[in-house]
Amino acid sequence: MFLNSLTSLNVFQQDIPKLPMGKYAHIITLRETNSFALFQTDGELNISRVSLGRKEQTPSTRIVLFKRKQSTPERLTGREILRRYGLVENCKYNTAEFCKRCPDCIYYGFAIGDSGSERSKVLVDSAFSLTGYDMSHQQFTFNAPSENGTMSEDGKMKTVLRTKRYGAQNTRTGTVENHVTAIVFSDGEIFSNLQLTQAIYDILPPEHRAKTPMPQAAVIEAMETAVQTLLSEDGLVAQLYSGERLNALLHEILQITSDEASLTAVLQQANAEANRYAQVHGVGAKEAKAKK
Ligand SMILES: [Zn+2]
Repeated sequence: MFLNSLTSLNVFQQDIPKLPMGKYAHIITLRETNSFALFQTDGELNISRVSLGRKEQTPSTRIVLFKRKQSTPERLTGREILRRYGLVENCKYNTAEFCKRCPDCIYYGFAIGDSGSERSKVLVDSAFSLTGYDMSHQQFTFNAPSENGTMSEDGKMKTVLRTKRYGAQNTRTGTVENHVTAIVFSDGEIFSNLQLTQAIYDILPPEHRAKTPMPQAAVIEAMETAVQTLLSEDGLVAQLYSGERLNALLHEILQITSDEASLTAVLQQANAEANRYAQVHGVGAKEAKAKK
């Protein structure tokens, strides 16, 4: 346990469980960007035809940021930090030489042909632009991916806050500002990003909907309201962290990640837990079986 703000909540697992245990931590994020590079695959813009709102049923074309376009740079940021503090050495990303033991391998999973796979414990939902594509030719405010997984330790939240560059490396265009607007601990998966995007669109006053870029404060305010409404419709057992309570939690996280000693301690704990999981349920268990 490392976050005092959460001590009273039973949201952490003692160990990383073998099977999903119905403990989800959703990090609801507004991603604000001024770049188109992010939304292209092989030069094609990724788009989706959907209604603008839940109430406002006018169809429009939204730009989509696919799951991997979000999680890959966040994983690479996490792996960089693990290397910086000497916790991962012989683990090659996206190759058969995944080490199968480090926090990145265990949290995000891997699949290496016949030689084993691990299910990801971090789930990412595709994100949708708030404005229709027809409106968002130049700069635009962009919404609203959440990242969630069984809450065993951290690694994810810190990485979301740290990652600034998305899209192709060596370009100056992939800059994204992530605003964590709510965190929800629950016993199941909450609403989708598309539902959230549409709910925010309905709440925004019409004069803001067409602005590029959209006024950030108005978007965040609408997002807070939308999260509350959608969460009440989900019918889950859920704890919503927003406003002051969220700020206190984020402040505590930043205190840890900006102090080398406490950051190293958290990373070492994460590494020990991931190694233990691999030993008991993953590659270690398979090796033991093979020896028999
Ligand atoms: Zn690894």
